[in-house]
Order: sequence, then C-alpha cells, then structure tokens
Amino acid sequence: MIQALYVHLPFCQHICHYCDFAKMVAGKYIQARYVEALVREIQLLEEDLSEVKTIYFGGGTPSSLSLEHLDQIVVELAKKVDLSKVSEWTIEANPNDVTEPFLTWAKRVGINRLSIGAQSFSKRLLSILGRDHHADQIREAVRLAKAVGITNINIDLIYGIPTQTRSEFRSDLEEVLALDLPHISLYSLILEEKTILKHQINQGILTMPDEDLVADLAEEANAFFQEHGIHQYEFSNYAKEGHQSAHNLVYWHLQEYLGVGLAASSQVQETRFTNDTTLKGYLHHVSSKGNGGRIEEPCDLAMEAFLMGLRLNEGVDLDQYQIRFSKDPLTSYPALSKYLDKGLLEVVNRKIRFTDHGRMVSNVVLMELI
Ligand code: SF4
Repeated sequence: MIQALYVHLPFCQHICHYCDFAKMVAGKYIQARYVEALVREIQLLEEDLSEVKTIYFGGGTPSSLSLEHLDQIVVELAKKVDLSKVSEWTIEANPNDVTEPFLTWAKRVGINRLSIGAQSFSKRLLSILGRDHHADQIREAVRLAKAVGITNINIDLIYGIPTQTRSEFRSDLEEVLALDLPHISLYSLILEEKTILKHQINQGILTMPDEDLVADLAEEANAFFQEHGIHQYEFSNYAKEGHQSAHNLVYWHLQEYLGVGLAASSQVQETRFTNDTTLKGYLHHVSSKGNGGRIEEPCDLAMEAFLMGLRLNEGVDLDQYQIRFSKDPLTSYPALSKYLDKGLLEVVNRKIRFTDHGRMVSNVVLMELI
C-alpha cells in the first residue's frame, strides 16, 4: 500500500557550491515542458494512490516554480490522491521565495508543512556554500509562514563548512532555536564529486574541516537541542514531540512510496525503481512510454531496511523485521555482536539501536555491516 508520494521539481535559481542533487537552472519554456511531462506522468500512473498519507514536493527548489505551474501539478494530483486523507504535505522552499502569495497558495491547496533551506545564518558561510539568501530572509520566511497559519516548519542547517568556527556554529544553533520551530534537519557537509566546492578544495582555495571538529559540532548540537526539548530521532533530524516527519519515516521504515518526476525513486511491492536522471531522457520516456523511465535497481531490501532502521534513534524492531524478512538480524549480521559487546549498539525492548556513544561513530559500524 503506497503511503507516501514524492514529487520532484528540479529547478533552481542558481547552483549552490556543494550540491549534487538532480537539479538545473532553466528558463520558462523548459519549466513548462517539464511540468507538462510531469502532469502526464501523474495522469498515467497505474498505482493505487488512494491511501497516500503524505506528499512531499522536493527538488531542486519547488518554490522557484510559478504558482501556475505548481497549480497544474496539484490539480492533477487531486484526481489521483484523496487529499482529505493526506495528513502531511510538505513543500521545500528557499527563504527568498517564501512570499505571501506563495504561502497563501500553499495554504489554499492544503500544503501544511514548509521545509526551508536555510543552511546557515552567517553571511560568510552562506557565501562559501554559494547560497543566494541572507539571514533576514530566513527569519522573515518563518514569520510569514506562521502568519498564514503554516506552523509545521522545518529548517535545514549544514555544519562542517570549510572555515566554520565553533562560535559560528553555536550562533546558527541559537538562531534556529530563537525561531521556535518544531523540526530541524542538521546535515554534515559532504564533499561531492563534480561540485564547485570539490573544485575549490582540489585547487587548495578551501580546506574541509577536521573530522574531530565536525564530530564535536554534532555532539554540541545534540546536547543543545536536547536541552531545549528538541529530540534527535534520526541521524540528521530533530523534532519536538509529535513533529517527526511522517513522510521521511516512510523512507526510513522502508515502507511503500512512489516518486514522480526526473530522477525520482520509488519503492513499490519490494521493488525499487528510479526515473531517468536526465531531462532529455525523462521527457522522452514520458512521451513514449507514459512513465519517467523506471529503471529497476537491484537492492538488498533486508539489508537496506536494517541500515535505514539503525539511522533512527528508536532502532529496528527485531520481531517485525523477522516477520517481514524471515531473518533475525542478530544471527544474519555476525558483526553486530562485536558492537553490542563494545556498547556501541544495544537491544532494548526487542529493538536494536545505537547507543548515544555508538551514534557518534556509526559510520564505522555501518561500513562493516555492508
Ligand atoms: S537550492 Fe538546493 S537543489 Fe538547488 S542547487 Fe542549491 S542545494 Fe541544490
């Protein structure tokens, strides 16, 4: 039963220095062709979407599309999804796109969660990241969203930025706390291939921060949010009670979801498939086959479900895992016993999970399990 629907909107106003997502800068003509194809892909979906509980408009920058284009997509979705059953509908936005007309439109169509790509409040660090907004626009975006009644707001923050100091990071944490938000996603900067940042590092213009500093910042964030009643529930995600992302929990629990649009992934009936990752390919597939390409990806679902589950603070329920995959992780993955003995993992109420200390060195453990 498909519970979550992802809609990929790949357009951005400009390209951030660290980004390797499926995104592009494009003019109105290309955007119109893409939306036309996306609408057709939605129209021709054969899957039953009547039980969808969450929708996520991600990108790219969905908020950079015109309201007319966003409306076209929503009208088509409403024919496939029973929107009265959708409890969480998120749209990602850049702070400088969060205007009153945008928010009024979002509220009118039923979007009830806003995810703002803030990344940092420091002018200097935003410039290193290649972001085109500033701190006042983040504060204003939150103020406007709350004013129209969209209070379920997430902010994305990045840490481990080249040259970032501890006090700059502390200041970002305090800024985000002052906004009084129910959800924060905190990502450690990953140096991806073929990005401007990678080029700058290769040229010696910037240096990635020391791993120990990055680990210290993560620890500081955990303690800071915990102290203020915002609890970590996944490696990179923190929420006040009752505000965990229902959509992302579908991914982390490896339940069924469908993705539409360029490069969107789906998992339906224990099969993983991904749409074509190029615009040309995606448009071609939609016009010739009526879907986005749907390349089936071989994957070890049992392993993936286990690794995804370990990302969650609640861990993996051993009994449910046994029912779904007919195997017991404790015997299937022998490396676990070593980390249980070392106190990096623990089993509590038949759930295996990282301990607080284990979460800090989770990479080592996860690498050995793969
Ligand atoms: S706005 Fe988001 S998707 Fe677009 S380039 Fe920046 S990080 Fe990538």
